[in-house]
Amino acid sequence: MPDASSPAPLVEVRGVNKYFGEHHVLKDIDMEVARGEVVIVIGPSGSGKSTLCRAINRLETINSGDIIIDGQRLPDEGKALARLRSEVGMVFQAFNLFAHKTVLENVTLAPIQVKKIPKAKAVERAMELLTRVGVEAHANKLPSQLSGGQQQRVAIARTLAMDPKLMLLDEPTSALDPEMINEVLDVMIALAQSGMTMIVVTHEMGFARKAADRVVFMADGAIVEEAPPETFFTDPSSDRAKDFLSKIL
Ligand code: ADP
Ligand code: MG
Repeated sequence: MPDASSPAPLVEVRGVNKYFGEHHVLKDIDMEVARGEVVIVIGPSGSGKSTLCRAINRLETINSGDIIIDGQRLPDEGKALARLRSEVGMVFQAFNLFAHKTVLENVTLAPIQVKKIPKAKAVERAMELLTRVGVEAHANKLPSQLSGGQQQRVAIARTLAMDPKLMLLDEPTSALDPEMINEVLDVMIALAQSGMTMIVVTHEMGFARKAADRVVFMADGAIVEEAPPETFFTDPSSDRAKDFLSKIL
């Protein structure tokens, strides 16, 4: 739940516009995420959800507006950007693990190389995180020896190893076989309950009900509607959202 004692939101997206050529893919996006808040972004394919996540992590530039993380305006480049980006963890639909490194190496690599944490300490912390996501028995295997659900849990552990202030998860379960979705959602629910601030692109209602504070519905590059999950899923106010929900539920 949001922490009311911290006045400034952790994430402030203000008047953000993004074009790909002539294509206006983010239209005057305004969004705030409080510390500890879990926000779900939902909407049709092509509505700009991934672009918004990538813009918040500065994997994508924006044409106008501001993105402020923990009071700091995101810089376009340089060391400040690298630092800010390390504070925003991102988990993608495709797990993006390093194929030729072990599970343990995947989790320790960035802490050792980027944060200059001594190897023994990085390994200790990685094993804690792998235990937290339930894959510690596979630490010395290669990603290809793990199931998709296990790989995605490793990807979450790897992101957590950088101690992010914010986690962005872009359709983290949509590449998974159905029987593996819940094991990843359970890890995400536990993460949400631990107080992590999260922006999650997902259509998973189970996760929404258990963990989300707010649903943001996007269509055609704009935020059309925002509501708590119980309201959004049972009584959406916009026709766009009603139409969308009638197709996915
Ligand atoms: P979503 O994640 O909601 O499916 P995206 O953010 O991926 O939507 O895409 C929003 C729109 O921007 C889509 O029309 C998509 O085709 C377009 N788009 C996304 N990435 C690029 C890119 N790198 N170059 C050109 N167009 C892009
Ligand atoms: Mg997407």
